[in-house]
Amino acid sequence: MPIRILSDEVASQIAAGEVIERPSSVVKELLENALDAGARRISIRIEAAGKRLIEVMDDGNGIPASELALAVARHATSKLVTAQDLFTVRTLGFRGEALASIGSVSHLTLISRIPGSDSGAQLKVDGGKNGPLETTGAPQGTVVRVEDLFYNVPARLKFLKQDITERGQIDALVTRYALAYPEVRLRLIQDSRQGMQTAGNGDRRELLANLYGVEIGRQLLEVTADEDDLKLNGFISPISLTRSNRREITFFVNGRWVQDTALTAALLQAYHTLLMVGRYPLAVLFLEIPPELVDVNVHPAKAEVRFRSPDRVFSGVQRAVRRALLAYTPIPQISSSSHWAPIGGQVEIDPAWEMASQDENGAATPTAPPAMGWIPRTQPALPADRPPILRLVGQVGATYLVAEGPDGLYLIDQHAAHERVLFERFMRERRQDIPAQTLLEPVPVHLSLQDAEALTPQLPFLHRLGFQVEPFGPGSFLVRGIPVFLLGSDPVAALQVLVEDFEEDETPLQSELEARLIARICKRVAIKGGQEMTHQEQEALVRDLERCQSPRTCPHGRPTMIHLSVDLLERQFGRRGSR
Ligand code: ADP
Ligand code: MG
Repeated sequence: MPIRILSDEVASQIAAGEVIERPSSVVKELLENALDAGARRISIRIEAAGKRLIEVMDDGNGIPASELALAVARHATSKLVTAQDLFTVRTLGFRGEALASIGSVSHLTLISRIPGSDSGAQLKVDGGKNGPLETTGAPQGTVVRVEDLFYNVPARLKFLKQDITERGQIDALVTRYALAYPEVRLRLIQDSRQGMQTAGNGDRRELLANLYGVEIGRQLLEVTADEDDLKLNGFISPISLTRSNRREITFFVNGRWVQDTALTAALLQAYHTLLMVGRYPLAVLFLEIPPELVDVNVHPAKAEVRFRSPDRVFSGVQRAVRRALLAYTPIPQISSSSHWAPIGGQVEIDPAWEMASQDENGAATPTAPPAMGWIPRTQPALPADRPPILRLVGQVGATYLVAEGPDGLYLIDQHAAHERVLFERFMRERRQDIPAQTLLEPVPVHLSLQDAEALTPQLPFLHRLGFQVEPFGPGSFLVRGIPVFLLGSDPVAALQVLVEDFEEDETPLQSELEARLIARICKRVAIKGGQEMTHQEQEALVRDLERCQSPRTCPHGRPTMIHLSVDLLERQFGRRGSR
């Protein structure tokens, strides 16, 4: 066959394939156009999973009659002029391709009226061919009607999934945009069934409750971060709320829904060691970044972006999410539907939980409590929510403290609790230099040369923390003093922590690095599981824990206590309820 220039019709059908893959892609493009037009109200009507009809009606600023034909021409856009503008675009569209593409593979009707005009205009496009421009009555804004999508590209039609799948894709898409634009009133009707309607009052949590159910809406944790030119907002699930796949992880970048594996990876890293293997969080996160720092033109459907400094973006996301997670971790409560076994029975250990505690070597039986399965309290605990004043009962198995509160029994992991107490002391007192207590006998520490190299630059930091350590020949150090409140603990163990390899996911930011180092020191020097404590020491620990800012978790995010409510105890003993 000789080389030929493709007819416009064929060329646009081929190009359309990149942008318009399925009905939900049409919905996405039309929705983005309506948002770009400043609509406050958008109504979407779908018939037969979008194959019969997709109609999007908005109250935005409309298209002048004289520009209707241009709107459906290829590479025609009102949103940018030069290629350089790509790095300043604030609109969702910019390629000028969507309407042309849609028009070439469907029966398209475009009706629009701009403010101040007393009539609207209508243009029909059939398989890429424009009809006449007509005057018509119309409300202000734009209606785009797409009928018989892919009627002239049967191959495309064959690739579509079952109606239920295509409908689901549209639902998922509109849901995400509803969350991204809570101030816009959105309505979705599929086959005359009202699918969704949002209030447009800007309240994202209310929206989440409507979309995911009240219980989930209430549990989701808010994320906010504002660092230089990176803003992150949105919601993530607490560690007790997971899914078996990543489908509920959504990222918007500058108002644009993107599918970015690296952003997802950053999110998952923030949950690292907190979730069972194979479980994923729910998240809807909105990233705002100056347009010049992100390239949005890397994908025809604009579903991917490229960041100028990806590492900064990813570590910013990871940190913000981690912070939100650690600020809020409810006291695990044993659910009555769990495998809580009566005395003599067997407690099932869910092996997945053991993964979560892989690096906790402090407690003798680290996995037992979570293995019983736990749920967040029905009243979600807010960050400020403290456990009540507790009355110490005693120590069990030289590992747990038992205490009584007004609302039941508390089991406290002595190691995790002590870690938390020490950690907060360090963090509180390190604002000034922490006073050192000079040891009667300096303690020599011998390290491998490699470890000694790693430790030497940390000496000033250690000094500020109250560790008086000085070089003492090759590979050797002399510990002359330790922080006052660590008296009686093993200084060598504390030092060892500083030279250990860091986990891969650790961000080498100085302030964070220090907090992590401190957390590690605390883990090392805290009372261990299996260690007897005097009644006085037990009392002191419970009192110190009560005074902590975040008493419910250790610095690594694991629970310090489990709450057995009176209600649960009564049910377990058959005093109340079904059993
Ligand atoms: P793009 O959005 O990339 O500019 P489109 O093909 O989606 O390309 O739209 C072409 C042009 O038509 C837009 O630039 C805009 O000026 C106009 N337009 C499309 N939809 C609407 C709408 N709902 N309201 C107002 N103008 C619209
Ligand atoms: Mg567009």
